[in-house]
Amino acid sequence: MNGKLIPHTPLAVDFWQVRKCPHVRLFFLSHMHSDHTVSLTSTWANRPIYCSPVTATLLKLKLQVRERWIHPLEVGEPNMLPLDDIGKERLTVTLMDANHCPGAVMFLFQGYFGTILYTGDFRYTPSMLREPCLRTNTTIDVLYLDNTNCDPTRTLPSRQRATQQIKEIIRSQPKHNVVIGLYTLGKESLLVQLAMEFKTWIEVSIERLKTLQALELPDVFTTEPGAGRIRAVDQSEIRSSNLLRWNREHPTLAILPTSRPLVSFHPNVHVVPYSDHSSYQELEDFVSALQPTSLVPIVGRLTSGIPSFSALLPRRKHHEVLVPESVRHYMKGRPELQVQDPGQSSFLGYSNLLRRPIRPPPPRGVVFESPAKAPSRPGSVVDEAWETGSMEHPHQEEEMDTEMDADKDGEDSDCILMDL
Ligand SMILES: [Zn+2]
Repeated sequence: MNGKLIPHTPLAVDFWQVRKCPHVRLFFLSHMHSDHTVSLTSTWANRPIYCSPVTATLLKLKLQVRERWIHPLEVGEPNMLPLDDIGKERLTVTLMDANHCPGAVMFLFQGYFGTILYTGDFRYTPSMLREPCLRTNTTIDVLYLDNTNCDPTRTLPSRQRATQQIKEIIRSQPKHNVVIGLYTLGKESLLVQLAMEFKTWIEVSIERLKTLQALELPDVFTTEPGAGRIRAVDQSEIRSSNLLRWNREHPTLAILPTSRPLVSFHPNVHVVPYSDHSSYQELEDFVSALQPTSLVPIVGRLTSGIPSFSALLPRRKHHEVLVPESVRHYMKGRPELQVQDPGQSSFLGYSNLLRRPIRPPPPRGVVFESPAKAPSRPGSVVDEAWETGSMEHPHQEEEMDTEMDADKDGEDSDCILMDL
C-alpha cells in the first residue's frame, strides 16, 4: 500500500483504512493503480474522495464506488475546499498531470500547514516545472516523492527510447505474434503506438476493453481472438506454461515493459525498462529544481528523508504547523452523522446537529458498536498523537503492496522471471 496521512491535517492521500484515521475528513486519490486503492471498495461512504475527472470515471467503473462520494476536480485549476465546519479555514489544492497512467495526478496542497506537494506515482518531465503553480517560486515545505526508482546504481531510458527498443524486438521477429504483459491500467499509449507502427489491431480482454473505451482512446483495440498480431494480457500471464501453449499454436514472443529489475529465463520473453516512474536522475533533477524544505518518500517504510538527496535540500527553517481550533474540532467530527455538500464552504448537517440533540435509537437485543463509528473521546491519546503528528501512523506497519507481487510469483515454479 502506498498511501499517506498528512500530519497535522484532516487529509489523506491514497489511504483508505478509515478505522485507522478517524480524524481524516478529506480523502484524495492520486490514480487508480491497485496499490493506491487498498481498502477502497464499493461500500465506501460518508467521506468525499477528490481525484481527477478521469480517475473519477475509472473509480465508478472499476471499483463501483458510489458517485455521491466522488468529487472530480479540474486539473490545473486551484480548487478551494473547506477544512472546518464553519467556513473559516480552507485548503487550496491544485492537480497536475503526473505523467504516469491515465488520470494520475500530483496534488499541491496549500493552507495553514504551508505548501505540500504530493507526487503520487509520477514520471518527471521538465515541463512539470513550468506548471503555473510551481513557476511562482512557491516554497515547498514538504515534498512527498515517488521513490520507486530511487536507486543511484540504476539508470532508465526515456519511454521514447524504451518504445524504440520494443519496436525493434517486434520487427526482428516478423513471423511471431506478440504478447505484452501489463497491469490493468497504464501503458495504453504504448499499445496505440505499436498498433500504428505495425498496422495491427491490439487484442485485449473484455475487462480491459471497457477501461480503454472509458478512456476514449483511438479505435485500435478488439476482443476478437486472432484479429491482430499483438495481444495485451495481465503481467501474471507471462509464464512458461502459457508461453508453451501460445507457441504450440503460433510462434509467439512476450514483452514485459517494466522498470522492475527482472531477469527473464526464457528466450522468448523480453523485459524492457519502459517505466512510468521517474528515474533516479529525474528525481534528482526534480528535487534540485524545487528545493523543498523536507522530503518524505511515498514508497516503503522510510518515514522521512531520502539520504542520497539530503544534500540537495536547502537549510531552511521547517514550517511550524499550528492546527487552528476550528480544524481540530472538524477532525473530531463524525462524518457519518452529517449530510455533506462539498460544493459548499461548510457541511450543512453540522448546524442541524447543533440545534437538535442526537438521541441514540433504543437498543434492541445486543448492540455492538463498530470501532469506526465510535465517537472520538476528548483528549484521546491516539487522536491527539495523530493530530500533532507525533505518532507513527498505523499504515506504516502495513506490508507494501506493489502492482505485481514479486513474492507470489517467486513461489510459482511456472514463473520464468526473477527479481534481481
Ligand atoms: Zn501507479
